[in-house]
Amino acid sequence: MIYQRSSALFAAAQKVIPGGVNSPVRAFNAVGGDPIFVKEAKGAYLYDEDGNRLIDYINSWGPMILGHAYSPVVNAVIEKAKKGTSFGMPTEIETEIAELAVSMVPNIDKIRFVNSGTEACMSAVRLARGYTKKDKIIKFAGCYHGHSDSFLIQAGSGAVTFGSPNSPGVTQGTAKDTLLANYNNLEHVARIVHSNKNEIACIIVEPVAGNMGCIPPAKGFLEGLRSICDQHHILLIFDEVMTGFRLAKGGVQELLGVHADIVTFGKVIGGGLPVGAFAAKKEIMKYLAPEGPVYQAGTLSGNPLAMAAGLAMLTELNKNPEVFTSLTQKTEYLHKGIQKALENHDVEHTINRIGSMISVHFDKDPVIDFDSAAKGNNDTFKKFFHGMLEHGIYIAPSAFESWFITDALTYDDLDETIAAVGKVAATF
Ligand SMILES: *Cc1c(COP(=O)(O)O)cnc(C)c1O
Repeated sequence: MIYQRSSALFAAAQKVIPGGVNSPVRAFNAVGGDPIFVKEAKGAYLYDEDGNRLIDYINSWGPMILGHAYSPVVNAVIEKAKKGTSFGMPTEIETEIAELAVSMVPNIDKIRFVNSGTEACMSAVRLARGYTKKDKIIKFAGCYHGHSDSFLIQAGSGAVTFGSPNSPGVTQGTAKDTLLANYNNLEHVARIVHSNKNEIACIIVEPVAGNMGCIPPAKGFLEGLRSICDQHHILLIFDEVMTGFRLAKGGVQELLGVHADIVTFGKVIGGGLPVGAFAAKKEIMKYLAPEGPVYQAGTLSGNPLAMAAGLAMLTELNKNPEVFTSLTQKTEYLHKGIQKALENHDVEHTINRIGSMISVHFDKDPVIDFDSAAKGNNDTFKKFFHGMLEHGIYIAPSAFESWFITDALTYDDLDETIAAVGKVAATF
C-alpha cells in the first residue's frame, strides 16, 4: 500500500504539533514508520488520505462500538448543532442521558458528566479523598486512568511504550500519595493496605484491564478488592472508561457481579464525542459541588452535541442488548481464527479475551499482569503490525493495547482478518 499523502501530512503536522499528533500513541513510535492520516470512515472501515481502505480494529480506541458514522448518532449531532452548540446553562438532554445511564448501570444513583476519561478518573479520586478524608490511593501497574498527575506513576499504554515509567513534570509530592500494586495480586494489595493503615482513600482499578493488552481479572480478584475495601473504609473505584457500555449494558459490575463505590466512564458513553463521566450512590455523590464541598467543574461539561451523541449511542445499546452477544460471538470467532493461523505457523503466542476485548501477545506464557505483558516479543509485534497493515488491517500501533471490536464488522471482514494473520505469520 502507498502512504505518500499520509507521510506528507505527517511532515506538515510535525512542524506545528509536538510529534505531529495530539495524543502520543497515535504516532508510530512503538512500531516505527509514519502514522496514517484518516480522511473518513464508515461502518467497520477507515479510508485514509491515500485512498486505502482499512478494516479498523481501533475504532477510536473504543467509542465506535456500532461502527463509524453510525446514522442515529450522526443525525442526533446534526440536529442538535442547528440549535446552538454550547450554552453554559442546564439543558434537558443532560437529565435524559443521566437517567438512561443510571438505569443501565447497576449500583449508581447519580452521574456527573465531564469531557474525557482522564477528567472522570481524576475527579473520582478527588471525590474519594474528600469523602474518606484520606490522601493515599492504590493503583495497579499497567492500568491506565488517563494522564492526570496522580496516575502517571507507572502507567501503561503511551507511557509504557516510551519506556519511561515516570513522566517529568509529575512532582514527588504527588507521587508519594500513589501506591502501586500488581494486577491480579490480592496479597500485594493486602500488604500495601496493612503498611498504610487508615491512610488509603481508594483503590482504583480497571476491572478488566485493557491498557496492557486485555487482562481479565483472576477468579476472586475483584471480590477480594471489594472485601479489603469494606474492611478498611476504602472506596473501590472501577475505571470502566474502556469496559463500560462495552462488556455489558452495565459494564463489568453487571458482567462479573462485583459492585464498586465509584465508577468512571468515557469512550462509548460519548458515542465518539468528547465525554467522560463518574457515578456513584447518592451518599457519595452528595459530597460533590454544588451539593457538597468537593470541587469539580467544566465550561463545556454536558455539552449539547456531546450529550446528543452519547444519548443516541446509549439509547441504541439499551434498545438492542443483543448487540453485546453479537460482539462477543464475533470476537470469539476472531480469537479462534487467529489462534489457528498462528498455530499453523508455530508462532508462540497467548491470546487474552473477554467479551469484545481481545489482545494477541507474542509470548507463550500466560499474561496476567504488567510484568507478564511486558515480556511479549516486541520485534514480532512490530512485524505483525506492519504486516497486517500491508493487508489492509489496522490494529493499534502498540503491543500494550487491546483490539476494539465493532459490531459493524461482518464475518467476511473477520475471515479477511484471519487470512491476513495467516499470511503475515508465514513470513515470521
Ligand atoms: C482511555 C482510558 C482512560 C482515559 O480516557 P481519555 O478520554 O483518553 O482521557 C482512562 N481509563 C481507561 C481505562 C481508559 O481506557
